[in-house]
Amino acid sequence: MAKSEIYETYPVFGVLLCNIFAAGVALLGAYILWPYGIAVPALYLIYVFLMEFQTLREGCIYCYYYGKMCFCGKGLCAARLLKKGDPKKFMEKEFTWKSILPMFMIALLPIVLGAILLLIEFDWILLAAVIAIGVLGFPAQGVIHGWACKYCKQREIGCPACELFSKKN
Ligand code: SF4
Repeated sequence: MAKSEIYETYPVFGVLLCNIFAAGVALLGAYILWPYGIAVPALYLIYVFLMEFQTLREGCIYCYYYGKMCFCGKGLCAARLLKKGDPKKFMEKEFTWKSILPMFMIALLPIVLGAILLLIEFDWILLAAVIAIGVLGFPAQGVIHGWACKYCKQREIGCPACELFSKKN
């Protein structure tokens, strides 16, 4: 990736947009899963929360942006909730498509279960929700991460996630 300007603090607008997209995915996911009974969307939202917390615990505490406003604001959350870790450990984490599958499941699970509901009984609103979560969960995340990584100091230091995302194949 070419050298570019680095943000010590990410602009609030971008952080807000990132969190609106993430909240949109979680809310759409819960909406899509609602017909399966209240326990399913409730468990889904707990899963989303646990995944977010795991990111803080396994990534953000070692990141350059710990205690700072990173692209998604988790650097500040991590500093409020958890002790700072050894920054060298950020590079030690293995990052593969397989290892990030649990994170992708936040959008994938409602898409698959929503598609099953559509096959059982077609509904335009449900279809719109499935398309919206597909867009917010994948292409929109790609755009957000493209922007975030471009201006990220941790990318300069070393980031296995960015290396994986920037691989051509
Ligand atoms: S380079 Fe990208 S993936 Fe890595 S910490 Fe920075 S924003 Fe996150």
